[in-house]
Amino acid sequence: MPAAKSSSAPSPMMEQFLSIKAEAGDDALLFFRMGDFFELFFDDAVRAAAALDIALTKRGQHEGREIPMCGVPAHSAEGYLARLIAKGFRVAIADQVESPAEARKRGSKSVVKREIVRVVTPGTLTEESLLDARSANYLAAYAEAAGEAALAWCDMSAGGFHTAPVTAAALPAELARLNPAELILREGTEIAGNWPLSPLPKPNFDSSRGEAALKARFEIGALDGLGDFTRAEIAAAGALLAYLEATQMAAVPRLRAPQRQLPGGFMRIDAATRGSLELSRTAKGTRAGSLTACLDATVTAPGARQLSADLAAPLTDATEIAARLDLVAAFHAGGEVRERLRTALKEVPDLERALGRIAAGRGHPRDLGLIRDGLTRADQIRAHLKRATLMGPPPMLADLLATIGPHGELTGLLHAALVPEPGMNANEGGFIAEGYDHTLDEHRSLAKDARRHIAALEAEYRAQTGVEKLRIKHNNVLGYFIEVAPKHADGMMAADSTFAHRQTLANAVRFNSEQLAGLATRIAQAQGQALALEAKHFADLNAAVLTHAESIEATASALARIDVSAALSELAAQRGWVRPAVDDSHAFTITRGRHPVVEAAMKSGQFVANDCALERDGFVWLVTGPNMAGKSTFLRQNALIAVMAQAGSFVPADAAHIGVIDRLFSRVGASDNLAEGRSTFMVEMVETAAILNQATDRSLVILDEVGRGTSTYDGLSIAWAVLEAVHDGLRARCLFASHYHELTALEPRLDALRLATVRVREWKGDLVFLHEVTEGAADKSYGLAVARLAGLPGDTTARAAEVLAALEDTRDATGGIAAGLTELPLFAAAEPRAEVKDALREKLADTRPDELSPRAALDLIYELKRLAD
Ligand code: ADP
Repeated sequence: MPAAKSSSAPSPMMEQFLSIKAEAGDDALLFFRMGDFFELFFDDAVRAAAALDIALTKRGQHEGREIPMCGVPAHSAEGYLARLIAKGFRVAIADQVESPAEARKRGSKSVVKREIVRVVTPGTLTEESLLDARSANYLAAYAEAAGEAALAWCDMSAGGFHTAPVTAAALPAELARLNPAELILREGTEIAGNWPLSPLPKPNFDSSRGEAALKARFEIGALDGLGDFTRAEIAAAGALLAYLEATQMAAVPRLRAPQRQLPGGFMRIDAATRGSLELSRTAKGTRAGSLTACLDATVTAPGARQLSADLAAPLTDATEIAARLDLVAAFHAGGEVRERLRTALKEVPDLERALGRIAAGRGHPRDLGLIRDGLTRADQIRAHLKRATLMGPPPMLADLLATIGPHGELTGLLHAALVPEPGMNANEGGFIAEGYDHTLDEHRSLAKDARRHIAALEAEYRAQTGVEKLRIKHNNVLGYFIEVAPKHADGMMAADSTFAHRQTLANAVRFNSEQLAGLATRIAQAQGQALALEAKHFADLNAAVLTHAESIEATASALARIDVSAALSELAAQRGWVRPAVDDSHAFTITRGRHPVVEAAMKSGQFVANDCALERDGFVWLVTGPNMAGKSTFLRQNALIAVMAQAGSFVPADAAHIGVIDRLFSRVGASDNLAEGRSTFMVEMVETAAILNQATDRSLVILDEVGRGTSTYDGLSIAWAVLEAVHDGLRARCLFASHYHELTALEPRLDALRLATVRVREWKGDLVFLHEVTEGAADKSYGLAVARLAGLPGDTTARAAEVLAALEDTRDATGGIAAGLTELPLFAAAEPRAEVKDALREKLADTRPDELSPRAALDLIYELKRLAD
């Protein structure tokens, strides 16, 4: 920065920098545009240089101190931004908003005008290089108003905008589902979880202000037309809009009008469950190895994002689920249609994000090309699917096809206007096709002619001067010039020479000539005019695309849904999955189920399929068996099958019948860890408490070795009590794995408890895992056999066997650690209420509604009320 070398008053540029920096605030780094670079100064420079591992230099002085500085080239700024955002920085971009020439017009000393044009934050990215193509990037806002709470969220890169009321209990699960890149909330609000937070001052959450902002943005007189929003939802949506305006300045992206998502529409899955089932990430944090990755056979990026969203939020409405399954089934049966469809889909670019960039004013000519190609393909796909004969045909497909195009008018325009492969940089021109605009063609051919003339001039000058190696060259500083070696320079500088000297370098001397200057001016003018024309066409074409934004979005989301269905049917065909029956019963019957991820990692045929039937008279299964037998795998596969089925996928089983699950819980007991034993056990208990507080009789609960993280007595007691609570209190379908054999003593006392075990066989002292789930309890724990298998030295296992024998003797004498438990009275099952319920039930069962007169119906209600009281 050319700040004053002697300290005293700051230079005008420094003054400008300081005022813009004050505006950007301390929590954002300021990228200050200077020519071809973005420069950072002071503390920003120190932090950025360390984060980016680039050179920190010094330039000039401010208040007697040298100014630290670093910079990145503007043309490669995106890559640096990506790294800074990934490290949790926010970056304010101050760009030059006028050219140096314009500044000079205001006076020779004027500083080029600069303004913050955007604040880059994790939730407001639209650039391809900064985003993961296969997952959504949500900006979310949380607000409380009128005693209620709500979330609003949008994916700026793709345009979707949603709100949902949310209770304190459901908030963590909702956030875990959305996995926001950035969460806006009121300053001072505490929220559980490790989300990147952007606190805003209170006035941003004012619901009347939010209402006004929503009305203005979506140009509507009243919000009722969009839905019956709560004050909290309006406050959250308003805060989100305010934040977009503050960070995106003029270029606030296009958003679709907010859609409400009502609680209950999705299977609720909390963060702990998502983690333990590895739905979208594995325990190590990678996508590879997760259920989503295993099921992702989509061929487009929007399809991949739709699949992630589907698996993150399985449906709870049996009719909606069936509609998705119908489509998968149709593609499953129509192999040829599917194959052609998938080949065509592969060629469809990411329409949503191209449109997102154009809407945010950050589009490239290439994005126009993507829209053109995407819509053209979409029209072809629609035609292909309209012609295809598909089983059903599924009503959902007809609805989807109706929202695709036609876009003949727009694609016609883009085909005519653009070259086949438009580039990334609008300023360089060259993206408008020949023949689209005659004036542009003329300017271009003028420039081309002049360039041809220059080539001829070179030959002419060589002949004239006799200098064989004379060259006419071009660079950005001098423009066109004539270059010769120094030994030929004297001749060219003779008094009568037509060449004017411009520059002497060590190994070259450069000249100009009137003729050359004339041609150069012609080229510059023609090019300038051509560029101006292209810029105008670029703006017009962007505007034309935006007038079709809604139907492009609809097309993109229809294609995404079709991609997901075709991909799931492809997997179903390859891996032998079946269509699940999903209804409103309490059934959970899986015949020969498999674990989709574990099976995919094995050679075909190696995975042992297992049945699971959580019937009303046996809805809790206690699964025992030694370590490594396959208990966890069995538990998880059933939970995953439920997620897949309700997300609308076929499932890895021979048959599946599932009554809609409202909430899914999965917990894995903390493994003993001396260093963090206490805290992990604490976490385990907190998570288990959440189940007991939130599960309903429509939920599915998976408990794997709960209580493992503490002493045997504690652990067994907790496992025992939890099992009773799930069985008697919640009456939720449940799979409970434990290595506490003592728990099997509960079987005669809990009528809907069934015992299952994963079979193993000891063979010549070795343990053989059969991975077969059968009725009954494990006959012993096989801990020593597993230890031997793991390579524990022979003398140690022999000694362990002696200890075990001694312990077992005492156990048999005293009744073991579970002694006395069988005398324990049952967990509070509300028996008197059960009687009332039965009287009511009997009365209702005897009623024939069709035969009741209105008078008799009224009497019946009185009677029922009396029974209930
Ligand atoms: P546990 O929970 O009983 O300790 P796991 O479920 O972790 O056992 O399974 C142990 C190993 O056995 C897994 O790594 C898996 O590869 C294998 N396995 C589990 N279930 C099956 C199955 N049904 N078929 C084939 N292999 C299985």
